[in-house]
Amino acid sequence: MPELPEVETTKNGLLPLIKQQTVLKAVRHRDNLRWEIPAHLQTTLANQAIVTIDRRGKYLLIRFAVGTLIIHLGMSGSIKVIDSREPLLKHDHFELILHNGHSMRLNDPRRFGAVLFSENGTHPLLDSLGVEPLTTDFNDEYLYTRSRNKQQSIKAFIMDSKVVVGVGNIYACESLFACGIDPRRYAGRVSKKRYQQLTEHIKHILTEAIKAGGTTLQDFSQVDGSPGYFTQTLRVYGREGKLCTLCDGKIRRIIQHQRSTFYCKSCQS
Ligand SMILES: [Zn+2]
Repeated sequence: MPELPEVETTKNGLLPLIKQQTVLKAVRHRDNLRWEIPAHLQTTLANQAIVTIDRRGKYLLIRFAVGTLIIHLGMSGSIKVIDSREPLLKHDHFELILHNGHSMRLNDPRRFGAVLFSENGTHPLLDSLGVEPLTTDFNDEYLYTRSRNKQQSIKAFIMDSKVVVGVGNIYACESLFACGIDPRRYAGRVSKKRYQQLTEHIKHILTEAIKAGGTTLQDFSQVDGSPGYFTQTLRVYGREGKLCTLCDGKIRRIIQHQRSTFYCKSCQS
């Protein structure tokens, strides 16, 4: 599933290719993904210039003078920019054909992605999002304050996009392992000092992933069509039954909120 680093990488890859380019035509090759793709985009975006591209959480925000095109890659979405004359691939569901002869195409086999539009740039999906992890708003004080009296596990807490966006399952497992925090511990019982380590680690792991071009375990291609690779070593995620890298114990896997959690019983408390 594309995570925040992939979306950031996609945004950075798109900027030099489509910023300030003008849309000839917006074309939907099917009516709906997770939700309906607005039919009016064909007229609304015709001859509109792309002002810039931003990211909020895992949403790509393509800004036009008339509004914002909001794209989510869902479980399996990817975007590429190619010559408009190239034949469509299976699962190419939406495209912006540009005046310069290129097309930005959204491919999404599982169709959990979204293409939405907002005239004023706001949207209920964006309003509920928590802080961005790579900003100074994401710090020990913030997590400590937000977590007091929370009976929720620390893992669920840091994966809650209303708290902080972009901490996916892999990043949560790896960060908690690196900080020695038991993923089952109540968020309200984690000290400020440990929250400081945790925020630093999350920032570090996300920054490294963005530098590496985004992690990817499946389906994701970078904008130029080359596959993204996970170049960071996973120390705990996916290592059930294998030896812990820090002690003689074995990595365990449990299910929390329908997601696999990998951790070391001896190293995390
Ligand atoms: Zn261990």
